[in-house]
Amino acid sequence: MNTRNILKIEKTDAEWRTQLTPDQYRITRQHGTERAFSSPDFEPDKTGSYHCVCCNRPLYHSQTKFDSGTGWPSFSGPISVDAVTEHHDNSYGLSRTAIRCADCDAHLGHVFPDGPPPTGLRYCMNGAALTFESG
Ligand SMILES: [Zn+2]
Repeated sequence: MNTRNILKIEKTDAEWRTQLTPDQYRITRQHGTERAFSSPDFEPDKTGSYHCVCCNRPLYHSQTKFDSGTGWPSFSGPISVDAVTEHHDNSYGLSRTAIRCADCDAHLGHVFPDGPPPTGLRYCMNGAALTFESG
């Protein structure tokens, strides 16, 4: 499950702090979680892709986005198999699988095995970790 790649983008903590908003920094670089229903709506009717807020790598496509009712942007799978990496996360006494950007190691959210077909997976993401590009 641990498919840690060689990072393509490495920046110092100070560089990330300069580039990101405090919320974006806390979530992506310090493994934070935003409050449910706090992320922007991302124009749900538009077709497009969701990119890493830190390095702009495409991570998810709107075709895989679904309304999970959780208050976090949810996807049935990444835009490509190598877009994200999985990491064991035992924080808060829970055994979960954390999801990070493969290029810059940004913490994005977690994946759960209760999503819709065909994958059966629910990639529960922090909206603050993503940007949307239509088209
Ligand atoms: Zn990234």
